[in-house]
Amino acid sequence: MPKRQEFAKPIKERILEIEVPDRIEAARLAEKMAVKAEAVIAKLRELDLDEAEELDQDAACLVVEEFNHRPVRMRTAAEDLIKGDRGTGSEVVRRPPIVTVMGHVNHGKTTLLDQIRKARVAASEDGGITQHIGSYQVQTEYGSVTMIDTPGHEVFSEMRARGANLTDIVVLVVAVDDGVQPQTLEAIAHARDAKVEIVVALNKIDIPGADKSAILNELAAQGIETTALGGAVPVVEISALHGQNIDGLLKEIIDIAELHEFKAPVDVEPQGTVIEAKMEKGLGPVATAIVKEGRLRKGSYLICDVAHGKVRELRDENGQVIKEAGPSTPVQIQGLSDLPQVGCDFYVTTEQRARDYVKEVRFRSQQHAHANSRTDRVEADSIQEMLRMAKEVEEKKVINLVLKADVAGTREAMLQALEKIGNDSAELKVVLSGLGPITESDVNMAAASGALMVGFRVTANSKARKLIEDRKLRTYFSDVFYEVTDFVRAQLEGMLQPVVNEEVRGAALVKEVFTIHKIGRIAGCGVTEGTIERKLPVRVVRDGTIVAKTKIAELRHYKDQADSVKAGSDCGICLERFADFKPGDLIETYEEITSAQKL
Ligand code: GDP
Repeated sequence: MPKRQEFAKPIKERILEIEVPDRIEAARLAEKMAVKAEAVIAKLRELDLDEAEELDQDAACLVVEEFNHRPVRMRTAAEDLIKGDRGTGSEVVRRPPIVTVMGHVNHGKTTLLDQIRKARVAASEDGGITQHIGSYQVQTEYGSVTMIDTPGHEVFSEMRARGANLTDIVVLVVAVDDGVQPQTLEAIAHARDAKVEIVVALNKIDIPGADKSAILNELAAQGIETTALGGAVPVVEISALHGQNIDGLLKEIIDIAELHEFKAPVDVEPQGTVIEAKMEKGLGPVATAIVKEGRLRKGSYLICDVAHGKVRELRDENGQVIKEAGPSTPVQIQGLSDLPQVGCDFYVTTEQRARDYVKEVRFRSQQHAHANSRTDRVEADSIQEMLRMAKEVEEKKVINLVLKADVAGTREAMLQALEKIGNDSAELKVVLSGLGPITESDVNMAAASGALMVGFRVTANSKARKLIEDRKLRTYFSDVFYEVTDFVRAQLEGMLQPVVNEEVRGAALVKEVFTIHKIGRIAGCGVTEGTIERKLPVRVVRDGTIVAKTKIAELRHYKDQADSVKAGSDCGICLERFADFKPGDLIETYEEITSAQKL
């Protein structure tokens, strides 16, 4: 009996097991823990977490722990699919490393990817017909490498935002004639964040006179300790343009892969990540994915978020039909019901489970419709709404934009980049974004909402072209990512009021003040800076404060009238509408320089 009493001892703080679904409202979580919602909000603030109405599972678990309870993660339908019967995998194989090329604009990323692709064509002699499917593999004498065929970090960060961790190695391209630039730093931050290996490719080595060691020092200052400076990050000098030392770069990549021994099980249910997706005429949704584990085969039933279906056909990067694709292999998949999201993982499951899952996801997404539809919706769903938006364009500094892109990946990357453009005084609103050529209905939408139309790697169909001409709509087409963002930025900047700066051209120190009959009070000055020009506007500065702004009525050098007096000389200045000089005042002449506001 005494023992029982021990157990029955009242516990001050009851530790509860709190079931945490993949998303939960803060108020609901508070209820489960029997605390006030405000307490949960305060905790979120304390933990520096988003005070969103809804928390994701990680944040919710953290909060539960903070309240000294035990979180129990509820498996979601997706996790059930994943963790179902995939098997643990006893047959593990080496797989090629997956490589992303990053770096500052114009440092040569695209050229490098082209060169590597060429090297592949030369090696495999497949006739050189290469289509862009978002990834390709290159076979070298040392081994294979899988390249993600989209330069820049937009797509990389987009993937990561969706939780995809596809890259093993980042090739950081730095042009020797330009050194470390803002996007170099961003690329470093991304790579470091994703904990992937980095190889520095010093590009444009054919340009003479570059200070390579200065660049290596700049990189070291960013924590990229290259082998040349005794660190661990390899540096390869290349000329992407002339195909110089591409082999050396590939060898370095393979060396890193050897060191890491990237491996994957093959006797498990296949899983991979979608890197591109587009609608193809007659084929429907076609997704490019890279297989991460297992061997994907024709006939398997796939699910990728809400897109699902039986794999009707598998093709390799050259468009050749293949029977199966193993780890690190890029593969084109036909047979999905919808366009899957880029960065989404696919799993193999049964049709029934896929349908159940989609039902659940759709139900949830209806609940979160507002949050989820920010970029993809047509904001205007009524005529009134369109008119309101058009009016807003007239009144405020707003540019409405209709964006069409070739594939889901580029569209999303572009939307992300565009979202960052704009500030308090000029705003960019994407009223519609979609895939494929610009159509009549896009043009109508743009016309109704006064929107600018941008076609990224797409054209306009002939009816749309005619409509654009008829309605004289602003339309911009480009295949180059940064051209589009630069163009849109320039359009927004064009709407901003120009900034006027006063640039001082000359300064004169008032030494004494005297009065001349018929003229009035004159400041006897010594010119201390630049030149005092009679024609320029002036300001009188006393103790750092501007006390007057006016014009010069008379400028004298000794007894003579002068147009200008240079530094080092004395002069007499008489101003229009201002005579209250004091010794010690500065009379400054200035020019108004008007420049466009930058975003
Ligand atoms: P990205 O913006 O990083 O994809 O850069 P691009 O690949 O489009 O290259 C930008 C410019 O640099 C192009 O004009 C290329 O021809 C040029 N370029 C690329 N690699 C080299 C190189 O190794 N040497 C020289 N001299 N120019 C290069």
